[in-house]
Amino acid sequence: MDRRLRNDVVVLVLFVAIGTLLSVHFELVSHLQVLLEKHASTAWLEGATFLIVLLLGSVGFLLRRLYVLQSRMASAAAQPVVEIVQEPGLQDPLTELPGRKLWKRRLAQELSRAVREDTQVAVIALDLDRFKQVNDVFGEDVGDALLRVMADRLAAVVRDMDTVLRMGADEFLIIQPGLENHDGAVSLAKRLIAATLDPMQIREHQIPMSISIGIVLSTPDCRDCEKLLQRANIALDRAKASGGSVYRFHEADMDLKLQRRQRMEQDLRAAIDNDALALHYQPLFNVTDQRLLGFEALLRWQHAEHGFVSPADFIPLAEETGLIMSIGEWVLEQACKDALRWAGDRKIAVNLSPIQFRDPELPSKVAAIIKRTGLPAERLELEITEGVLIEDADTALAMLVELKSLGVRISMDDFGTGYSSLSYLKRFPFDKIKIDRSFVSQLVIGSEDAAIVKAILAMGHSLGMIATAEGVESAEQFDYLQLEGCDEAQGFLLGRPMPFEYALALCSVPDGHMESVVRPLVAAHLPRLASGGN
Ligand code: C2E
Ligand code: MG
Ligand code: MG
Repeated sequence: MDRRLRNDVVVLVLFVAIGTLLSVHFELVSHLQVLLEKHASTAWLEGATFLIVLLLGSVGFLLRRLYVLQSRMASAAAQPVVEIVQEPGLQDPLTELPGRKLWKRRLAQELSRAVREDTQVAVIALDLDRFKQVNDVFGEDVGDALLRVMADRLAAVVRDMDTVLRMGADEFLIIQPGLENHDGAVSLAKRLIAATLDPMQIREHQIPMSISIGIVLSTPDCRDCEKLLQRANIALDRAKASGGSVYRFHEADMDLKLQRRQRMEQDLRAAIDNDALALHYQPLFNVTDQRLLGFEALLRWQHAEHGFVSPADFIPLAEETGLIMSIGEWVLEQACKDALRWAGDRKIAVNLSPIQFRDPELPSKVAAIIKRTGLPAERLELEITEGVLIEDADTALAMLVELKSLGVRISMDDFGTGYSSLSYLKRFPFDKIKIDRSFVSQLVIGSEDAAIVKAILAMGHSLGMIATAEGVESAEQFDYLQLEGCDEAQGFLLGRPMPFEYALALCSVPDGHMESVVRPLVAAHLPRLASGGN
């Protein structure tokens, strides 16, 4: 039921109930009977009493309506935002919109008005999608000009009584008062998205730009400014995660998810401090002679409550929170130290996150770790995913060249899963491509995946790159890879990720004895030790 209708019904019922109580208390029927000198029938008198009670209810209802109307007129005469903004320091100098300092005052004003008028306020958090790229590519002047155009477009879409504020960088907030339900906010969100669809003409550049929107409506039990803003931002995060150019309303379960995420973040920070992160090592073998070539370092988190947490779950969290920077450095240093302890010149592969790649200091950090640990650079392989190249291919390729000049080897991980652009392979000489396990897991002669694997192998070899197959789980898959000339293989068939001591033991098995020694070792111990899911 519409909220306002519900309130009206409540008031009506309340007054009717009061009327009924009063009529019982003052024995209205008998008084009326006396009044009409006992001429009227009891049925007639009861009908008259009912009408009086109903009349009382209607009076109450009308009084309430009058109060609401009066409050609205009083609020309409309240100080408009334009006047408040004239106060020094409250306006955003770039866009001339009300600035961040005003949001709370403005929202509090509208919330108390909403209580009086029995309406709702929509708090709309808004953020430009990929604005950072505009600044990076076109420079900050163009970025500033774009923000001004955006501010004008937003301001043109809202009603006079709405407030558009600039909260900082590319973040805006809209306060939309006087709503009966969420329809008004939906229609405004659609108008806002539509208003930003046309590319922005900034000087000689035509820049496409979209926005993401998070909305929350005030309710009688939530009129707390900070909480409303936080909820609008949670909804905004959800909109961003959906790929941008969309609006999302705040939903109750979003708070729960956020709380869970915040707890997980605290736990991860504690895990870093308490050394609860560990590295496991998955062996890589030469396909032709099954020689042990090295290991890939894979991160493990033994969580006190949740047990093993997969890196697939906590690496994205570490990336969002920036914790990946310190974790990544620790992984690199620990893996290099461990690799020095196993025999021979076996390689150690370490995964790098795209976030680490945004750090211009990465090459010098890698160089420092190599120097500190004393690991020969050519034994270190850095694995990157295609995500690194998508964000800003030119910078990423320059960074790869710098890393390669240190003498380390660079592998393209999970090949075939992202927006694989063959031009990247041409522009940067990767040492290795790792065929993603999704192609390997369904390998059957004559299948589409078999054709894809064959094509990747041919292409990799013609570009002078080594090809590694990930996720080899069956002897049939291994045989097919051998037949097609794949160079290296990694997978549960050959060895699961294992603690360092097992990797060390594996290194001392003489080449040629893998078949007899490794398989029983893997089968006997590793299912127990192997980290969950793997
Ligand atoms: P990845 O680099 O592609 O690592 C290979 C993943 O495939 C590992 O999962 C490994 O355990 C799993 N795997 C290997 N062989 C098989 C198989 O035969 N069958 C199946 N089903 N899976 C197999 P894991 O350890 O869960 O790691 C997942 C991803 O997390 C890694 O994918 C990597 O992208 C990321 N990751 C792991 N450690 C690190 C790290 O230290 N830093 C960063 N940035 N990312 C890491
Ligand atoms: Mg990898
Ligand atoms: Mg991989």
